[in-house]
Order: sequence, then C-alpha cells, then structure tokens
Amino acid sequence: MSISNSMAETLLQAANQSAKQAYAPYSHFPVGAALLTKDGEIITGVNVENASYGLTICAERTAIVKAIASGKRQFLGIAVWASNRPHGSVTPCGACRQFLAEFFSQDGVIISSHAKDGSVQCFTMKELLPEAFGPAVVPADNCPDTDSNKPGG
Ligand SMILES: [Zn+2]
Repeated sequence: MSISNSMAETLLQAANQSAKQAYAPYSHFPVGAALLTKDGEIITGVNVENASYGLTICAERTAIVKAIASGKRQFLGIAVWASNRPHGSVTPCGACRQFLAEFFSQDGVIISSHAKDGSVQCFTMKELLPEAFGPAVVPADNCPDTDSNKPGG
C-alpha cells in the first residue's frame, strides 16, 4: 500500500488548511492533520488545547475520532502539518502513534513536510511504531459484538 506523490501533497495541503482552525492558545503551536480513508475521503483534524494542559488532544487523534464517529475505520494514511516548526518536521507524538496503530496497517503512511526545504517525508506505521502493542495482541472476545468492534469491521 502506498500513497501517490500528488495525494501526499493534497493531504499536506488539507492539513495545512486545517491547522488554521486549531485551538492552540497556550502553545501557539497550531497543528492540522488530514486522514485519507480507504474509500478516498479526506477527514481533517486540529489540535484542541485545554487550560488543563493534560486534556489537550492532538490533530491526528481529532481526525481519527471524527472518522470513527462518521463510520470510517479503514485508512491509508495521514498527513501532519504544523505552521511553527523551528525544530524541523513534525511527526505524530507517541500517544498519537499508538492511537494510529489501532486503525492503521503496518504499511499505513504518515506524511510530513520538512520545515527547512518543504520536501515531503513519508513513513510507514511500522517505522514510527515498531513492535507496536495493538489490536492483534489483545483479543476482542470480551466484547459482545466482536465483529463490529474490530478495527476495519
Ligand atoms: Zn499527538
């Protein structure tokens, strides 16, 4: 599974546009994400901060939550964009990597843009979270409606 260069650019642009809606009054680090569903839909997300800092949710998780709430569970990739990148490109934080691994295959694509030269960087889920703890490790047998609770189900 891969994503074409033009789709990667499309997703980065959607993430860039989405970042303008971020709620980041504390960090001043607006982030946008654009998630590509298996059926070609693009679902965006932004970081949403909170005065109780620990409740802040990242753009990637916002996009996943929106997608799940709209009935989408299969994804090909996600682009992440941060407008302020003094330290280089932005990739998902550890929490988001774990969250993405719940729904992404090992070859799901994470797209970022390098802060200095704007070049597009693509990673696989396996590269960003090797030896992941995921749904394959935890049996879903305890759920009353197992099939519909499975990722991609
Ligand atoms: Zn995150």
